[in-house]
Amino acid sequence: MTDNKKVQPLQAVKGMNDILPPESARWESLEATMRGVLARYGYANVRVPIVEPTALFVRGIGEVTDIVEKEMYAFEDRADKHGQAEHLALRPEGTAGVVRAMIEHSYLRDSPRRLYYIGPMFRREKPQKGRYRQFHQMGIEALGFAGPDVDAEVILLARTLWRELGLKEGEDVTLEINCLGQPDERRAHREALVAHLEQHRDVLDEEARARMYSNPLRVLDTKNPAMQAMAEGAPKLLDFLGEASLAHFNGVKALLDAVGLAYRINPRLVRGLDYYNLTVFEWVTDKLGAQGTVCAGGRYDGLVEQLGGKPTPAVGFGMGLERLLLLLETLTLRQPAAAPDAYAVVPEPADLPRILPVLEALRAAGIAVQMHAGGGSFKSQFKKADASGARFALVFGADELARGEVGVKPLREAGEQVFMPAYSTVALADKLRTA
Ligand code: ATP
Ligand code: MG
Repeated sequence: MTDNKKVQPLQAVKGMNDILPPESARWESLEATMRGVLARYGYANVRVPIVEPTALFVRGIGEVTDIVEKEMYAFEDRADKHGQAEHLALRPEGTAGVVRAMIEHSYLRDSPRRLYYIGPMFRREKPQKGRYRQFHQMGIEALGFAGPDVDAEVILLARTLWRELGLKEGEDVTLEINCLGQPDERRAHREALVAHLEQHRDVLDEEARARMYSNPLRVLDTKNPAMQAMAEGAPKLLDFLGEASLAHFNGVKALLDAVGLAYRINPRLVRGLDYYNLTVFEWVTDKLGAQGTVCAGGRYDGLVEQLGGKPTPAVGFGMGLERLLLLLETLTLRQPAAAPDAYAVVPEPADLPRILPVLEALRAAGIAVQMHAGGGSFKSQFKKADASGARFALVFGADELARGEVGVKPLREAGEQVFMPAYSTVALADKLRTA
């Protein structure tokens, strides 16, 4: 660096966003609401690494998937002294890592587990609204329960969250469910499906042709409009389900009916990941264009074994936080109160030793008080007070302080400044809380 050359500022990686105030307050508020709901359903937090062996995702998600084929940030680490380099990947989803950790620490031996995580995921996709390269998921995993009771539970946990966030089910978000059956049922269906795809080879796009034998079910998960009619007419997996699978599906439906949760059965719902069986579901919205899936999940009884653990039934979901926040924004619902209750105007910084104890007492009483820091004229401090969105300005002028008082001036509604005792904070806190 030389003195006369201006340093070029660097920019964040495309599709990876900074989350700054005041936006970050919306995130914290959303996460706090989530943690409250999760605790009530008995789900415990797990925090697993963001980087895992690439093989974990190849095994866990499946080789013939968008994620593993095209979207994963995978790289070779530096070689160690023996010339061996590890193949590592930024996690594109949360389930594989959680299951790995459960197996590694023998957490599934004695009792089933209800777990959740919140954190960043990485996929090299084309960035657009609601689709990013670093995005965030809250996900839950119920491990060791065969269902269908717990299938209904994970779906209902999401509904409780919508309710707490002010989202209306059936209007802002709707539930779609399907049953993927078991591997043998899927095999029979798959044969019929491949035959159907062969019959309609002329409408298949390049990707579909490449996949029609390796993963024909995924061909139906297409977003290509030219293939919709073909997909609609495809043989339905539901018609290939045996008694046990149907009983499971009916069990889930009966429980959802019992709590009055409306759903749409979507026979084409297959999910992007390979490891699902029986129940699959999505909570979707029509308010976010093509990025309409806010929460997606289902049962994945084969995964624990596939990753080297003892056979363990499992069900869970992943929820996109960016999409959820976008959805909340479109409804202008529940803008969290980023604004403080009060803004402390400090005309004379030398008076702070008498002011700070009042602010601390108010905060201890649960009042959000933002202190003006850095001095400045009375007028400029008042401007800041107004811009903060606070409902009140607390004015600690020299005359008031001499009387042991503070001026309380409403900023959001009409009303005169009143003077209140500064050192009995009970009354003051009450005024700021309720008025
Ligand atoms: P889509 O069909 O939209 O690509 P997906 O099937 O790849 O979604 P999942 O792997 O099931 O998504 O992830 C669960 C949830 O995570 C999605 O429903 C969505 O809310 C969110 N999500 C997935 N990918 C992204 C992304 N790139 N950016 C933001 N959110 C995402
Ligand atoms: Mg995707």
